[in-house]
Amino acid sequence: MRFLSILCIYAAIGMSCNSSGGPVSPPPAPPAEPSDPTPARPSFNPERAFEDLVAQCDFGPRAPGTDGHARCRDFLEQRLQDAGAQVVTQDFTSRTGLSDREYDFTNLLGLFSADAEGPVLMLGAHWDTRAKADEDPDPALREEPVLGANDGASGVAVLLELMRSFSEVPPPRPVIVAFFDAEDQGARDSDLPDQGWIIGSRYLTDNWPEELPWPDQMLLVDMVGGDGEHNPAVGTPPRATDEFVLQMERYSLQFAPDFVDEIWSIAEELGHDAFRREAGHYVIDDHLPFLRKGVEAINIIHFVPPEWHTTHDTPENCSPDSLHQVGDTLLEYIYGG
Ligand SMILES: [Zn+2]
Repeated sequence: MRFLSILCIYAAIGMSCNSSGGPVSPPPAPPAEPSDPTPARPSFNPERAFEDLVAQCDFGPRAPGTDGHARCRDFLEQRLQDAGAQVVTQDFTSRTGLSDREYDFTNLLGLFSADAEGPVLMLGAHWDTRAKADEDPDPALREEPVLGANDGASGVAVLLELMRSFSEVPPPRPVIVAFFDAEDQGARDSDLPDQGWIIGSRYLTDNWPEELPWPDQMLLVDMVGGDGEHNPAVGTPPRATDEFVLQMERYSLQFAPDFVDEIWSIAEELGHDAFRREAGHYVIDDHLPFLRKGVEAINIIHFVPPEWHTTHDTPENCSPDSLHQVGDTLLEYIYGG
């Protein structure tokens, strides 16, 4: 025992064991693990996901018609290609709830495990960012664009990290990753359907690409990156919670309660305590067009963080741990059991 502990000390300080004098034979190799026929479930890397959140913000706001929007579109298409997905891009034009001008938009989709058995799962997030920070505490900043670190980039970052897993270990069932455009340009006074929110996902469900299978289930992630800390620059506006909490979004709970229960149960087993068994708000979001067409669709969302639709929605107010709670839960859902 004593000799072994000396060996360990030498190893720990990086010295050659032979410097102690006599020849030392290497320790025997540990017995081989029995080979597992099913590949281990991939793990979610929160730091890498956070880098993808920052990378999107580095393009600047991804509001309609901006250079940041065009660059992020190309970035996401490349990432889908790099992950080995069967990629479908869907271009369309629309005015928005915030502008009567027509803009170019793109939904980006990637299919993984096309030939696998089982129900088709869609994972979605919106990648556009809001053109006006109309909830900003400073009235002078309410015409400025939102950077969308949380509202936009966080959901996309979770899906980009999941795509890395899909490229390494193909999911055991078909999975479509969807990046929706034109989600976040609504306004209460808009005459557009759904007040000009969720334009991209509405367009997709009404113009389904024939290359892709129709999804049986849909899981949306939106605003899943908040750091859960009080931010004195914005205070705690009505409806906002400083804490990062994922209540059960109300449309999801009403129309897909079993799916909500399944996901929240997995999160609880994994100890991801942001998931709360409480009914939240009804949120107009990209899961709605799918629910309306009979898809079992749910929304994982923090509604709302204090920086929501302000100029303070920046990476400094986001956290890798929040991305991890959601991404790890989704990986367990897809690969577990
Ligand atoms: Zn938003």
